[in-house]
Amino acid sequence: MELTSRQNEIVAIVKEKGPITGDEIARELNISRSTIRSDLTILTMIEILGARPKVGYYYSMENKDNGLKKKIDTILVKDTMSVPVVMDENTSVYDVIVGLFLENVSSIFISQNGVLSGVVSRKDLLRTTLGKMNLSVTPVGLIMTRMPNIIYVKEDDNILDAAIKIFEHKIDSLPVVRESKSGLKCVGRFTKTNITRIFVDLVREDF
Ligand code: ADP
Repeated sequence: MELTSRQNEIVAIVKEKGPITGDEIARELNISRSTIRSDLTILTMIEILGARPKVGYYYSMENKDNGLKKKIDTILVKDTMSVPVVMDENTSVYDVIVGLFLENVSSIFISQNGVLSGVVSRKDLLRTTLGKMNLSVTPVGLIMTRMPNIIYVKEDDNILDAAIKIFEHKIDSLPVVRESKSGLKCVGRFTKTNITRIFVDLVREDF
C-alpha cells in the first residue's frame, strides 16, 4: 500500500518527535486535527504508528516482525471476492428490492448495456419507499448513486487497499471491475463481510 505525501510527513514527524499527540502533529503540519484524523487511523491500523492513551503516537515499524501485515500484503481482492448481483438501470425499484431479498445482499450494482453505471444500497431503497413514487414503474437508475461517483476496486488490488476504501468512504461494498472497450464491467463484489471472513481466516491461519 502506498502512503500519501501527508501520511509520509506524519510518519516523519512521529519518527523524529514521538511520542507526540495528534494535536501536536496537526500543529507541526499547520492543519487542523480533524484533517489528519483519518490519516492517523490508517497509519495505526496498518501498524506503522502505535498510539497510547495520554502519551500519543509513536513509530512502531522498527523492531517488529509484522507477519500479519506481510500476509495481508499477499492477499488480493480476486482471492476473496464474492459473486456480484448486477441489475439493469431500467429495472423497477420494486424488482430491485425483491432482488435484494432473494439474493440476500446489502447492495446491488447497476449496469447499462452491461457496463457498470451505479450502485444502490438498502438505505437508498428504504428512502425511496418513504416517498410517494410508484415503485413498480420507477427505474432504479433514478435513485441510485451514479458513475463517476462509484468507488471500485480491480481484481489484482490488495485487500488492504479495498478495506481502506470501504472504511474511508463509509460504504458497505465495492464493485470489482475489469476494464473493457465499452467501459467497466462488474466481475465481483467485495464487502465488509469479505473483510470479516479474511480476519477470521487469518486468525485461524487458513491463509
Ligand atoms: P446503506 O445506504 O444501506 O447504509 P452503504 O453504506 O453501502 O449502505 O451506502 C451508503 C451510500 O453510499 C448509499 O447512498 C449508496 O448508494 C452509496 N454507495 C454504496 N456503495 C458505493 C460505492 N461502492 N461507491 C459509491 N457510492 C456507494
